Amino acid sequence: MLRLYNTLTRKKEVFKPIKKGEVGVYSCGPTVYWYQHIGNLRTYIFSDMLKRTLMFDGFNVRHVMNVTDVGHLTSDADTGEDKMERAAEREGKKAKDIAAHYLKLFRDDFNRLNIIEPTIWSKATDNIKEQIDFIKKLENRGYIYKTGDGIYFDTSKLKDYGKLAKLRKEDIKAGKRISLREKRNNTDFALWKFSEEPGKRQQEWDSPWGIGFPGWHLECSAMSMKYLGERFDIHTGGMDHIQIHHTNEIAQSEALTGKKFVNYWLHGAWLLFKGEKVSKSKGGLYTISELEKQGYSALSFRYLVLTTHYRKPLNFTLENLKTAQTSYHRLKNIISELNNDKKINKEYLEKFQKEINDDLNTPGSLQVLWNFLRDEKAEGKIETIKKIDEVLGLDLLKIEKIEIPNKIKKLVSEREKARKEKDWKKADELRDKINKEGYTIDDTKEGTKVKKHGNKV
Ligand code: AMP
Ligand code: ZN
Repeated sequence: MLRLYNTLTRKKEVFKPIKKGEVGVYSCGPTVYWYQHIGNLRTYIFSDMLKRTLMFDGFNVRHVMNVTDVGHLTSDADTGEDKMERAAEREGKKAKDIAAHYLKLFRDDFNRLNIIEPTIWSKATDNIKEQIDFIKKLENRGYIYKTGDGIYFDTSKLKDYGKLAKLRKEDIKAGKRISLREKRNNTDFALWKFSEEPGKRQQEWDSPWGIGFPGWHLECSAMSMKYLGERFDIHTGGMDHIQIHHTNEIAQSEALTGKKFVNYWLHGAWLLFKGEKVSKSKGGLYTISELEKQGYSALSFRYLVLTTHYRKPLNFTLENLKTAQTSYHRLKNIISELNNDKKINKEYLEKFQKEINDDLNTPGSLQVLWNFLRDEKAEGKIETIKKIDEVLGLDLLKIEKIEIPNKIKKLVSEREKARKEKDWKKADELRDKINKEGYTIDDTKEGTKVKKHGNKV
């Protein structure tokens, strides 16, 4: 039985799909104007854990992720520049090429982090017609109005606007303190923005209301409905989306259909750096490639992320990552030495499943794995860990081949020679030297084995 914490009710609830055996999941994806940093990636590791857990529980998962390649403005108040247009100008390229470039890098990160790609990637610019049709329907239902800069959604027309973020009536009406421009209510948001000077933007389209481009919130409602239907099971994103982006997705979608939009809303907590959210302005902006250059693997980062529950903030430091990498390598080292008895250990598999089904308790499930390895009497380790790794995605059984540098090979053969000559003192000295270089040697029946300790297994 899978239980998930639903932001809508602020409770852990037993997960029940709309259609038996099937689950529709929508995850807010990247704005492809820049590199995705490790903060963003924490959120995608969380949605990957959700998806893998659902698959482990036997559900058929249809997962949609959007790619924002237009309309995400630098300010949440529907003002500022379009991030894509700005990046295109900065790099002197076409917005389309910028999007393709950063999407490719993002997918490379998915690959290195063992994040399963969505069933469907959906780009905002490929779905302009769907978004215009969405606004037309809202217009027919009387939810929209026009201002000098765009078409807006009137949030006061909905009885329960802001239920996800638990907004109060004052928050909606607080027009005195905040400049409304021509908006009727503080919380009203743009569905369509007019081009200030048509012909100047790279990406703009004609619409019944004027030349322009869709608002950011609209793409997620239009595309999730296109691929998952008017109602679907689970929607994920980072916590910053609760207040505005997801609140507005719910508003426009429920205004359109008159039905409940999504049953379970799940949100991942921040990756912090020096106590603040990792972001462009606050720092800690590592990418996976940068971590790799410093000797950390993407999967060590994944392991670090899994050591904290997705709803708790995680403080990132290179020191933490180093500790995680050491534990992860130890784990793989231990597993690499197990013999396969071809059995499944039901007891530990059930323990693992119980933890992961408890709102994706990854720290608890890692604990089960460690206990399992420490339990000398427990059978079926290899086959059970194979199953466990279907969820954790840590490549626990993949043995990486490491190249032993010539320098070490030379020391090893010198030591073998010393041993043959029964010069034990020299052999021990050479062993110490090899250890200091970061390698361990094991004298087995089949001969001397060399392993790297610390970094790769
Ligand atoms: P963006 O590309 O800015 O739209 O962000 C992509 C996703 O990353 C969103 O779901 C954000 O909520 C999430 N995100 C951004 N910064 C962080 C962070 N420091 N920790 C966790 N998630 C984040
Ligand atoms: Zn979204």
